Amino acid sequence: MSDASPVLRLEGVVKRYGDVPALDGVSLAVQGNEYVSLLGPSGSGKTTLLRVIAGFEVPDAGRVHFNGHDVTGQPPHERGIGFVFQNFALFPNMSVLQNVTYGLINADKGAVSPAEAERRALAMLEMVGLSGLEGRSTDQISGGQKQRVALARTLVKGPKLVLLDEPLGALDANLRARMRNELRSIRQELGVTFLHVTGSETEALAMGDRVAVLDRGRVLQIGAPDTVYHAPETPNVARFLNRYNLFAGTIPAQGQFAGPFGTVSTPPARPADEALYGIRFDRMIVEPENPAAPAPALHATFRASEYLGSSVVSFFEGEDGRIVETEHHMSMGAPPEFLTGQRYTLRWDPDHAIVFGQSAAG
Ligand code: ADP
Ligand code: MG
Repeated sequence: MSDASPVLRLEGVVKRYGDVPALDGVSLAVQGNEYVSLLGPSGSGKTTLLRVIAGFEVPDAGRVHFNGHDVTGQPPHERGIGFVFQNFALFPNMSVLQNVTYGLINADKGAVSPAEAERRALAMLEMVGLSGLEGRSTDQISGGQKQRVALARTLVKGPKLVLLDEPLGALDANLRARMRNELRSIRQELGVTFLHVTGSETEALAMGDRVAVLDRGRVLQIGAPDTVYHAPETPNVARFLNRYNLFAGTIPAQGQFAGPFGTVSTPPARPADEALYGIRFDRMIVEPENPAAPAPALHATFRASEYLGSSVVSFFEGEDGRIVETEHHMSMGAPPEFLTGQRYTLRWDPDHAIVFGQSAAG
């Protein structure tokens, strides 16, 4: 992927509210027709970043380039970037159709005739699956339908870039899956570039051509979903993916890690007094308790399992009281049945581990 002419390019964007920066030097480039997911916990600066990109906030430092121009000081309406707000922000007491035509008619007064605005709005409402509801008041439609109105209202203006702030957060699981597919087909049909903010690792990995992980106003990592998933570069990325057991320990010598499961060989990492060792839930092997098992081995008590549909996650309590998780994919066959309160030995192939030395802390 070439960085020659990204649609959006952020350079060292800083935004402070009081002492703590909401954005602490964010640099990011988004290519035309790319779908980028921005994953981060609550309070990590996701909404602030979208507001800076759209022009609702002016950064304290750094630049925002859109479409080849520096737009850092430009007001929102001059940028023409689409923004779908987290709470939809529809106009109450207006019909579905009026919500969609309003911006078209008022944004560029006279440029689009009411008849043309209505024609475009009807086409867009059809695209988002709302044909037949044009005359409804927005107080008389469901949450999923409101989400579609918000999307239609943004897309009808033909923005090159659309910012989505937790667009699926308010929807139930069924609707979420449907909207994900609809966003994909809209993107294909219209060739729009999307920046999709979410707190859900599943959604971020499912939707993004690339996933950017945001923590405390900094981008920790950006890459293809499988790269971020298989090779998190920092412990916090692994933490937010919610699929890694992380163990504290030390690196006594190059190529070794000493943790609660013994001392094992690892991929190279610089020697350090403090380090973290990450192993994915689905790499864990559960065996009957075996105190003589060689490292890496953890002796733990089975507490509970959660059936997640395509996999089962099980919780084991280690001798130090911490919970270690295992995951069994249903595609590998029926899950093993563990006895509550029974002790087991958890093992794994150390080649699959990731070690985060001190330099990667944070
Ligand atoms: P997210 O969308 O990831 O949950 P936000 O961008 O909303 O995070 O907020 C990032 C940080 O900035 C939080 O600590 C939040 O409290 C703070 N913040 C956001 N907006 C304001 C504001 N208008 N005034 C003061 N603090 C704010
Ligand atoms: Mg937010």
